[in-house]
Amino acid sequence: MKLTVLGSGTAVPDLQRNSAGYLLEANENRFLIDFGYGNLHQLLRLGVTYHDIDRIFFTHHHPDHMCDLIPFLFASKYPLDPRTRNLQIVAGTGFAEYYGRMEKAFNHWLTPESYQVQIIEMDAETFEFDGLEVTSGRVQHIEMSRGFRFTYKGKSIVFSGDTDICEGIVNLARGADLLVLECSTPDDMKVEKHLTPQLCGKIAQEAGCKTLLLSHFYPPCHMDAVRVSCSQNYSGQLILAEDLTVIDL
Ligand SMILES: [Zn+2]
Ligand SMILES: [Zn+2]
Repeated sequence: MKLTVLGSGTAVPDLQRNSAGYLLEANENRFLIDFGYGNLHQLLRLGVTYHDIDRIFFTHHHPDHMCDLIPFLFASKYPLDPRTRNLQIVAGTGFAEYYGRMEKAFNHWLTPESYQVQIIEMDAETFEFDGLEVTSGRVQHIEMSRGFRFTYKGKSIVFSGDTDICEGIVNLARGADLLVLECSTPDDMKVEKHLTPQLCGKIAQEAGCKTLLLSHFYPPCHMDAVRVSCSQNYSGQLILAEDLTVIDL
């Protein structure tokens, strides 16, 4: 599996860090995990267009995690070059209803004609997608929030989405080769239902993850301090995400 960070940022627009999103390539498939603003342009930098994505997983429907779905769907209707590949969208319970309302708000401008969108809701369960085993688990952020664990050829990557420290993310991340955690603010600026460097370290250590990738940094996060603080609780390999960081597993 190959992971590319499309956005290591958050709700606050930032020229260095686009909002949350990741490209996961495995078994000749391209998946997105979240699709925050700026991600569609990041994909273009990698030579990936709206034709090339097979499936999108949403950890939840906050704008910084899903807003580029709107220009993606609109571009896919471009009459001179319409998307033809069907698209699956996978998210927590309640997403289908939300998606229906969003589509309606744009009248017919997002509704596909040349391909089909299928919404798949996951609670806490395991499905197989194109040879990858995908397990979802509830995490503590909003009702719809799900973390996802992808396993392929004996390797596993786990994405927390936004979450606070909770059993759900520790269980989902148990023994993972790579754990991608949100790290919103420094320890002394903790925001409810989000993580800080020390809490990230605690989760990764408890779950026994080989490598920890921290991402989703709000502006007050300074990388040196994040590394020091997280390492107090975590002894494995620690990587701090930047936009377009690539990790091969
Ligand atoms: Zn967020
Ligand atoms: Zn959120």
